[in-house]
Amino acid sequence: MGIGDRHQKKDVEAALKRAEAAGLKVTHDKNRHRWGWVICCPCNQSQVVYCTPQSQGEEAREIDRFTRRHQNCA
Ligand SMILES: [Zn+2]
Repeated sequence: MGIGDRHQKKDVEAALKRAEAAGLKVTHDKNRHRWGWVICCPCNQSQVVYCTPQSQGEEAREIDRFTRRHQNCA
């Protein structure tokens, strides 16, 4: 991710960093409600990331679940 692509919710940002560290691709597409995506390139699956989730803790856990499921795909 480049400068300015940080998620405003720190729990979500931390989960996105863990996803990147595990080799997944994080994209910020600046849609109104959607912050972007976490993408697993080898199997072409993606997890949507919202800008203002109802619970940032739950949003972070969903990202972590996706990361765990896909960290060994490559
Ligand atoms: Zn995968």
